[in-house]
Amino acid sequence: RRDTTLTGPIETTLCDYETVESVNEELFTNLSELVKTPFFKYFRVDLYRDCPFWEENGFCMNRECGITTVDESEIPEKWRAAALSKVELPSSEQRQSLPGCYYRDSDYCFLDDMTEGDYIDLSVNPERFTGYIGPSAHRIWSTIYQENCFGMKDAQDAPGMLFAASRHAKTMYRDLVGVGDGLAPATQDGQQCLEKRVYYKVISGLHASISTHICAEYFNQTTGEWGPNLACFINRVAAHPERLQYIYFNTVLMLRAVSRLGPYLSAYDYCSSGTHEDDKRTLDVVGRVVGLAREAGRFDESVLFRGEDANVLKEEFKQHFRNVSRIMDCVGCDKCRLWGKVQTTGVATALKILFELDEKALDPRSNANLLQRSEVVALINTLYRFSESLYVVGRFREMWAAADGEGGERILKE
Ligand code: FAD
Repeated sequence: RRDTTLTGPIETTLCDYETVESVNEELFTNLSELVKTPFFKYFRVDLYRDCPFWEENGFCMNRECGITTVDESEIPEKWRAAALSKVELPSSEQRQSLPGCYYRDSDYCFLDDMTEGDYIDLSVNPERFTGYIGPSAHRIWSTIYQENCFGMKDAQDAPGMLFAASRHAKTMYRDLVGVGDGLAPATQDGQQCLEKRVYYKVISGLHASISTHICAEYFNQTTGEWGPNLACFINRVAAHPERLQYIYFNTVLMLRAVSRLGPYLSAYDYCSSGTHEDDKRTLDVVGRVVGLAREAGRFDESVLFRGEDANVLKEEFKQHFRNVSRIMDCVGCDKCRLWGKVQTTGVATALKILFELDEKALDPRSNANLLQRSEVVALINTLYRFSESLYVVGRFREMWAAADGEGGERILKE
């Protein structure tokens, strides 16, 4: 019997698969509740900025690509743009600006400057299959992977990396039991530095997590029904054991960031228009998530960016990730762009917490305006997306076990 169970240490972390598994069910339950609260469900985003890298014509005409926005009057007053822009926008000396967005030196992504954009209720626009496929989607992913090029030699190698991975796809599902060494086949390179491997894992794990959501809520065009698609999951994720490993890796990284941000999150004012009980409940659930993050978020960020060229490498890492956040403006499907922006902002916030902020900076008493509300919302929603992926992987494992042998082979051919 093949299975995708992973055991032992998660490479480049201090955590193992078993620990993540042991907290995930509770984590997922708590996060599912948290992302429905007013504070965490409303996300303000500008979805209609021009693609800065090429002329993008690949708009998805599929109904599922659309999103519904929320009128500003429905948003608790405290979180409206006018109120936010007063307190949250850094001064022009503190930021690098482009039309509609900016970043500060410590940021790993471009943030919207709150002058444009819509409010979206994330809870009613779930990330799932939309039918956004083909050259436009592939171009985005391939451009993102090319941002993995650190230096000239890599710049020549990078496009090959994506396509080499795709050549392996058909044959590798036979090795579902195998646990790789933590690197995708085409990235095995003795010269690769730890930081670059981490960068690749973050991107590939995010991609794998998005694929998992698509396969978990897939639209079957023959039956007209929504449901999990096991063959989709095996072909896109499980056939490449390292991709599954990277989802766990990203989860640990996000948990570590949430754990470090614990005191700040516990001191945060979630008060919206809700009642005192609602706000207390939000704080309680945040506390439980932070507690679980402390248990499983064992990642030692201090081993990264230590060498001779540490600062140069970190700047490069940051710049690449900022570019990834801008590439999201080229995604030709509104819902995919929305969730792409949420998740790149969430991961970028985690990277900032891990690599830019020391304990003093994270202290809520000395730095009350450390993060924008959108960063906090994105961080928690992104952790939720990874936690949901792991939860769904469990369901796919059960489906695979039930369809073992001949049945499994047939599913893959369908
Ligand atoms: P893709 O997922 O497009 O992958 C392209 C190539 O990349 C593959 O052939 C493979 O060689 C390689 N690859 C795949 N996965 C990995 C990995 N984890 N690590 C390394 N290499 C890999 N579609 C939806 O239906 N709903 C969404 O919400 C959605 N959101 C998206 C968000 C973003 C930011 C982007 C760029 C796309 C999104 N899409 C979404 C499209 C979706 O991700 C796929 O591009 C699409 O379903 C086509 O899938 P595919 O099987 O052709 O391969």
